[in-house]
Amino acid sequence: MSQQRLNPELDAQKLRENALTSIRLGIEDFERCQTAPSSGGDPARALSAVRNLFAGVLLLFKYKIAISVDDPNDAASLIFTPPEVLPQSDGNGGVEWAPKGKFKPTTIDVGTIKKRFEGFEINVDWKVVERLQNCRNHLEHLHPATTLGEVADFVAELFPVVRDFIQVQLEEPPADILGTAWQTMLLHHSFFVDTKEQCRKAWAAANVPDGMTPWLDESQCEECSSSLLTPGPLFIDDGASVERDEDTFEYLCLACGNTDLIVPLIVETLNKAHDYDPRDGEEPSVEDCIECGHGTFVIYEQNCLWCKTELEYTECWICEEGLGQSDQDNGGLCSYHAHTYEKAMRE
Ligand SMILES: [Zn+2]
Ligand SMILES: [Zn+2]
Ligand SMILES: [Zn+2]
Repeated sequence: MSQQRLNPELDAQKLRENALTSIRLGIEDFERCQTAPSSGGDPARALSAVRNLFAGVLLLFKYKIAISVDDPNDAASLIFTPPEVLPQSDGNGGVEWAPKGKFKPTTIDVGTIKKRFEGFEINVDWKVVERLQNCRNHLEHLHPATTLGEVADFVAELFPVVRDFIQVQLEEPPADILGTAWQTMLLHHSFFVDTKEQCRKAWAAANVPDGMTPWLDESQCEECSSSLLTPGPLFIDDGASVERDEDTFEYLCLACGNTDLIVPLIVETLNKAHDYDPRDGEEPSVEDCIECGHGTFVIYEQNCLWCKTELEYTECWICEEGLGQSDQDNGGLCSYHAHTYEKAMRE
């Protein structure tokens, strides 16, 4: 039994239409969720914005796969999930291979789209797509308000992906096929890029330890998850420094107006990115620094991102095992060899 005959017919133009409709709806939802309720906005639309945008982007990807082959049967076999084919008895001592269960025409998921793209050499920034997918997955469990800022970040990040895909892969002008949704994305994207740049410049004057700057860049508002954080205005005017005034220095979220201490947030961002699960036998990769007391000592890099302290002894001179902060009093030996050495001296 050939797979083609099992697949329902595929209408590529329909895929395209649905993709564009979904993206347009997503942008409409996005605009509504970013508008204050007093002006007719609705924060709850954040969820459908992400859902629609994610669905639209996947449909657009499937459309591209469908038009990459000439034969509609081939297109169908690439887009629909093939049913599982299993062996069974033919009743005469032989084997018969047959599709299992009733065939339901589901289409391929993100993982399979990625494989198809690799096979057909279609390039896309998967990091952004995967982050959108994660956002969609965790948005279902969160109050919409906590992620309004994050959704705004995503729409801004998604813009270049959609733009390049439509221009390069579909060879069409995005403004023509997305209409006003395109203008909204464009405006929002440039607003986001400009604002983010202003934030970076403002922090550059706030004396953040160099090693912490990349983590500041990754930090998100604790209220709305936006990455558009800037130093609270009071602090810059007073010539305050993040490094010196960590107990009072606050950030201001430009998306929701929330203010809070910046240093605990950066440290938390660093630690979250180095999250580990002791139940899986994993070990921490960040710990408190003996010199400055911040939770910013990166164990495998053997230095502190806050105060730049480096280890005097980095590996055991007998077994070459990497050493940590607690091994420094052993004069360049790991704890095992320090122990053996001490025992030998006593005997
Ligand atoms: Zn915020
Ligand atoms: Zn330190
Ligand atoms: Zn050793």
